[in-house]
Amino acid sequence: MHPDVQALLAVQADDLELYTLEDRLVSLEPRLAALEKERGRVEGQLARTRHEIADEEARHREALGRTETHRALVERSQRAYESVTTTKEATAANAQLEQTKRMASDSERDAMQIAGRIGELRHQFADLEKSLTDVDERQTTARAELDAERKVIEEEMAEARAKRTKASIGVPRPMLSTYDKVRVRKRGATLVPLRGTSCSACDTMIPTQRRATMVATGHVEMCEGCGALIYAA
Ligand SMILES: [Zn+2]
Repeated sequence: MHPDVQALLAVQADDLELYTLEDRLVSLEPRLAALEKERGRVEGQLARTRHEIADEEARHREALGRTETHRALVERSQRAYESVTTTKEATAANAQLEQTKRMASDSERDAMQIAGRIGELRHQFADLEKSLTDVDERQTTARAELDAERKVIEEEMAEARAKRTKASIGVPRPMLSTYDKVRVRKRGATLVPLRGTSCSACDTMIPTQRRATMVATGHVEMCEGCGALIYAA
């Protein structure tokens, strides 16, 4: 095999290693996204519960306000009832008093129900806060593992890149630039051997004349079938 081709094959070996490392780096992303999603779900529930509590607190204030108004009405009706002079007036005042009492007790019941609901929501909120702490604790390990993996991959990539740079020095510039152009497009094995009279990647036949040149000069030829670079082994 021509030494130029041999040198380029060494570069390709480094590139293939780099692709693998890049893929490994990319594969960390869904794992990180899954962690974010898990945490986000609990955070979303917390935010919703916080809103619900605020809404119920507003309703509770309104119910308390209504209760106060109705109690004042009860007092007024009571006084009116106490100052009646005729039976007819007494009947009307009594009806008025009973009605205001019902209104007051309805508002009180509303306020109590809402207060109960607020209590439940606050419990839920506390539980969710606990869940979030649990998620964070659990994720600390997972995130540390991911970080460690990323660091290892990045170190390996730095090494592979340095190795690649060194290996590329041995390749003639025009050959390297042709290879790089094809490589960007293919992102995989770019340089493939001739198998018999054909491209080993796609079996397209290479004309005799071109094959003879490849063998004699170490020239690499682009396959018309698949665009790979072919070398004579
Ligand atoms: Zn081919």
